[in-house]
Amino acid sequence: MAYGNGGYRDRNRDQPREFFKATCSDCGQECEVPFKPTQGRPVYCRDCFRKHQPEDRGERRRF
Ligand SMILES: [Zn+2]
Repeated sequence: MAYGNGGYRDRNRDQPREFFKATCSDCGQECEVPFKPTQGRPVYCRDCFRKHQPEDRGERRRF
């Protein structure tokens, strides 16, 4: 059980999240992602990200 990282707290919640501009690798739309896009790695907008998520991971959500 190497879980106990107590240093990570709600602190960052107060700060506005930093978003990075990126171009979706799928539809080519400009989008903003909450992480720094890595060169050579595909970046997806929200819609495409959902599309590209593996479905067989146990938890499925339908709406
Ligand atoms: Zn897209």
